[in-house]
Amino acid sequence: MSSPLRSTTAVPAFDRLAPPVATVLDLIGRTPMVEVTQFDTGRCRLFLKLESQNPGGSIKDRIALSMIREAERTGRLEPGGTIVEATAGNTGLGLAQVGIPKGYRIVLVVPDKMSREKVQHLRALGAEVHLTRSDVGKGHPEYYQDMAERIARETPGAFHVNQFANPANPLAHETTTGPEIWQQLESDVDAVVVGVGSGGTLTGLGRFFASVSPKTEMVLADPQGSVLAPLVKTGRMEAAGSWTVEGIGEDFVPPNCELSFVRKAYTVTDKQSMLAVRDLLAKEGILAGSSSGTLLSAALRYCREQTVPKRVVSFVCDSGNKYLSKVFDDVWLAEQGLAEREHHGDLRDIVA
Ligand code: PMP
Repeated sequence: MSSPLRSTTAVPAFDRLAPPVATVLDLIGRTPMVEVTQFDTGRCRLFLKLESQNPGGSIKDRIALSMIREAERTGRLEPGGTIVEATAGNTGLGLAQVGIPKGYRIVLVVPDKMSREKVQHLRALGAEVHLTRSDVGKGHPEYYQDMAERIARETPGAFHVNQFANPANPLAHETTTGPEIWQQLESDVDAVVVGVGSGGTLTGLGRFFASVSPKTEMVLADPQGSVLAPLVKTGRMEAAGSWTVEGIGEDFVPPNCELSFVRKAYTVTDKQSMLAVRDLLAKEGILAGSSSGTLLSAALRYCREQTVPKRVVSFVCDSGNKYLSKVFDDVWLAEQGLAEREHHGDLRDIVA
């Protein structure tokens, strides 16, 4: 795997490209990494791992593959079976991409705030999508996770994937994402900035870096309204609010989320996330989804707070192609009250 890219002015020459693979699933993982050079990163170097380059366009391809393989291995998923999951969309895309060619039926419950690009992509892949309310919490019959559980219970031959508690989720990051980062950054990583949806990324990377590099700090980027960052900072569980960013932030602590790995937590507003991800496209040419704006905003804050040089890595969790009708639509942004900059001038003022 090659080292992170720095700015290139022309299409780079290459020594040798990878040979063709048998299926698109063989292209999951081994994602490239790029250094952020057009933002003020203080004394630090900041790198982004482009999970958007997975075939399904997100970090969730990795866990879809690992959770389906493990269910097949243990007999929880049998030929012709039905895969049921609650998802913000990306896990569903990964599951459909892996499961449909194998002949499984895919039934997904998706909160209705998620972008229509993701829902259209899912339906075009052949998944059955049940849209449900985004404004209700755990325990409500229309809450997406409770609905998925019910559908799985009532469907013969169903495998409820449950990324929130499935051990094959963090394991995918511990065994693939972590080692890739370690190799790409030449065994020198001071901090990893992550968001939490299911907690798989945090827990898997937390375990990996605890074993190879105890100095590496896990840093949480959390949307305002989520219970996680307040819990880390105060030890108290607050009532959840709502947020627009998709795929990260929680109203409970999932079993797969080991918050004890978190050394520092940042709360990021929707406006800060949207501005950061738009700036990432305008300044670095990287088309990323809204949750990557949350991560970038927190990562820049972390970088600027450091008094000694550090090597920091974060993620482009998914592609901005999935949100062209939202964060990259000026009318939508204005309607959401997210269009105007809080301050004029340098992004430093905005993300701080
Ligand atoms: N970013 C995006 C875009 C996501 O969809 C998700 C998960 N839903 C995450 C980040 C969070 O990853 P994890 O589930 O591993 O906590």
